[in-house]
Amino acid sequence: MARVYNWQLGRAMDYWYSENRPKRQFGAVFDINKCIACQTCTLSCKTTWTSGRGQEFMFWNNVETKPYGYYPLAWDVNLLEALGPQTWDGATYSGRTVFEAAPEGERVLGWMPEAIDYASPNIGEDEINGSVDKGMALSLPQQIWMFYLARICNHCTYPACLASCPRSSIYKRPEDGIVVLDQSRCRGYQECVRACPYKKVYFNPSTGTSEKCIACFPKIEEGIQPQCFVNCIGKIRLQGWVNPPERAREDNPIDYLVHVRKLALPLYPQFGLEPNVYYVPPIHVPDPFLIQMFGPGAPAAVKTYRNARNDKTLAGLFALFGSTERTIPFFRISGDEAIALDDDHRETVRVPIYEPLVIRPAEDPTRRIIRLNTT
Ligand code: SF4
Ligand code: SF4
Repeated sequence: MARVYNWQLGRAMDYWYSENRPKRQFGAVFDINKCIACQTCTLSCKTTWTSGRGQEFMFWNNVETKPYGYYPLAWDVNLLEALGPQTWDGATYSGRTVFEAAPEGERVLGWMPEAIDYASPNIGEDEINGSVDKGMALSLPQQIWMFYLARICNHCTYPACLASCPRSSIYKRPEDGIVVLDQSRCRGYQECVRACPYKKVYFNPSTGTSEKCIACFPKIEEGIQPQCFVNCIGKIRLQGWVNPPERAREDNPIDYLVHVRKLALPLYPQFGLEPNVYYVPPIHVPDPFLIQMFGPGAPAAVKTYRNARNDKTLAGLFALFGSTERTIPFFRISGDEAIALDDDHRETVRVPIYEPLVIRPAEDPTRRIIRLNTT
């Protein structure tokens, strides 16, 4: 085991290989508050990459309802229970990661789903966290809640899938940090399936090899965001590049949301993989649940998000989500507009920070009708 630094834990940790960060790291932010669970992302991925034989149950992108949705069944609660207490000392994680909690002779604390666990990808959809009793009325903060969690492979800095593979079939691309699996080397041992805590590697029984999300790297190489990003109806997603905190840039949209404003947070950072998909947490969910899922920064992130509309830089940055197919490595705010910039700082797209609001008079005297404003 090597000692590596995991900034999401605020400390060094054990990992199977030494620290070797790529030239730049694929990163993404998902704004949970805007997801409507339309599953367009899921289907756009499915029709692009996993429509073949043996891939019937595979969803490299899935969207599940929390707290009761899971794909595969119980993927997170199984591991959370096995991991034991996950304590934080301020911003430093004082519990054990999946690498530090590995049983004797194993590289990762994992668990193996059964085939039936993948059979109901929509289980728990729209289920709320408790029962609504007769006569119950809405009170704030809300006691009854649920939210949609869209998930892809996190292209982790310290991937458990990579660490666990006895054939060294999985590697991180040095140019973009995307984690890929060499199927010509894979012998189907499925150690990666057992090891990935997010359960984002799948075994194809037809080919006898494992398969996973490739972050649409042929598109990334052309400077275009992945399929599930550009097809997102809710415009919840932004793809770019994420730096470690000491190299964070204010004009990099992912760095700005993750490091500068600390508004976008990793999913289950306590697992220890330094995942590179970051979430703006839902604003209507109790703090203990959010802290368990996104770490101790969640309450502060919710507070910042609640005020984002009055913050021109944040409001402008969110307006750029879903505004272009192109990857957005840089951005800037100019007057009342947000501008996306490419690698050479050339303008890609420009959008108004605040959409104009038009309220029509209810009565139209010309046509002699009464109109209803429905939104
Ligand atoms: S999310 Fe899972 S499959 Fe993806 S890089 Fe991390 S450990 Fe590997
Ligand atoms: S397409 Fe976007 S809004 Fe629809 S489910 Fe996927 S992430 Fe959510």
